[in-house]
Amino acid sequence: KLYNEVQDLKGNIRVYCRVRPFLSGQSAKQTTMQYLGENGELVVMNPSKPGKESHRLFKFNKVFGPASTQEEVFRDTQPLIRSVLDGYNVCIFAYGQTGSGKTYTMTGPNLTSVADWGVNYRALNDLFNISQRRHSSIAYEIVVQMVEIYNEQVPVPDASLHPVKSTDDVLELMSVGLMNRAVGATALNERSSRSHSILTVHVRGTDLETNAVLRGCLHLVDLAGSERVDRSEATGDRLREAQHINKSLSALGDVIFALAQKNAHVPYRNSKLTQVLQSSLGGQAKTLMFVQLNPDVESYSETISTLKFAERVS
Ligand code: ADP
Ligand code: MG
Repeated sequence: KLYNEVQDLKGNIRVYCRVRPFLSGQSAKQTTMQYLGENGELVVMNPSKPGKESHRLFKFNKVFGPASTQEEVFRDTQPLIRSVLDGYNVCIFAYGQTGSGKTYTMTGPNLTSVADWGVNYRALNDLFNISQRRHSSIAYEIVVQMVEIYNEQVPVPDASLHPVKSTDDVLELMSVGLMNRAVGATALNERSSRSHSILTVHVRGTDLETNAVLRGCLHLVDLAGSERVDRSEATGDRLREAQHINKSLSALGDVIFALAQKNAHVPYRNSKLTQVLQSSLGGQAKTLMFVQLNPDVESYSETISTLKFAERVS
């Protein structure tokens, strides 16, 4: 194991929490976040019941506060990503309500500024750098694939494999993807929060002396928004979307829960999402969940339901 530097207590599943800052333009509001600890503690306050008894403590492998940078977040993700070069399969998820910073963490707000890059670009950049620099006796091939799951369906054209030789190749590929998404403006942007988008990186290393081949796979998943949809208001397409999202997110929760409990039966077949990721969830595979939170009082009930999901899988 060359790069497996991660020491963890909970086997192959870890959960990081990230609280996004108040956005500029938002007037300074009251926050529900009372305490963010060095050791992964988070204390959340129920705004409708002031006083200490309304405080709840949650525990993660790590908590990133509103001032955390993309670089800091990546530093604690990097060892996991590097283990892909050792032949591990890794899944990294961003979970949370729409607007909680899932895309910010995974992709970043802006591709032109390197400091803003999210986990996706940093991961690929790192894999390219290491595969080119450190192993002259191993030839690596890196292939990326982008898949969107919408209403429990995987559209075929998105699933093509793209061999890439540099981070620039990936940036180009992704910006085409982003542009395609931007074309339909609001409708498609809206839809992107109701679909799961998966960037998969396949790595194949061939030992040039022995011809032995090692394969690893990294899935970077920006999940659909986890917010509850008001059943009395949603109808037709919107209701169907909400039901599909609900189904796949709870199926994901069930799978990770079963893995964390080391259950003999893991219910992979209950959603498209868990089917697509099956070979990279469980066994020797490693999972990281970013639990994304909004700091504001208005988001309290979504914050609690996100935290309950996280509590179950961690
Ligand atoms: P989601 O993908 O969960 O719907 P976004 O990633 O689009 O949420 O984030 C919502 C808004 O908050 C965006 O304007 C984004 O730039 C901003 N944002 C999210 N996280 C952060 C952060 N850590 N620092 C600064 N701005 C952030
Ligand atoms: Mg998003």
